[in-house]
Amino acid sequence: MEVISILGILWRIKFNEKLDDKDVDAQSDPHEKIIRVADDIEDGVDVNRILRHEIIHAFLYESGLGFNWEHKPYGHEETMVDWIAIQYPKIKKVFEKLGIEE
Ligand SMILES: [Zn+2]
Repeated sequence: MEVISILGILWRIKFNEKLDDKDVDAQSDPHEKIIRVADDIEDGVDVNRILRHEIIHAFLYESGLGFNWEHKPYGHEETMVDWIAIQYPKIKKVFEKLGIEE
């Protein structure tokens, strides 16, 4: 289990979890402050990308954008969350090249 700080709030990451929703590889629980990664992820699936996606959710929750925001049943607009999660490493490289990452 990993513990990470999301805007100063401690979240746990648990691997090999049995998830209620069998259609997803991971879930963020903003009440328990836990990211759960499924125990049945198929070979070849990029777990780092899945983690980045869930961590973006956590940042959104902790910055005040929770279930009240955008995508009605879930709260977050999944396409934008995924876009940030996928593009983040490339954006980070550009920021680092310019020395403007902070
Ligand atoms: Zn999501």
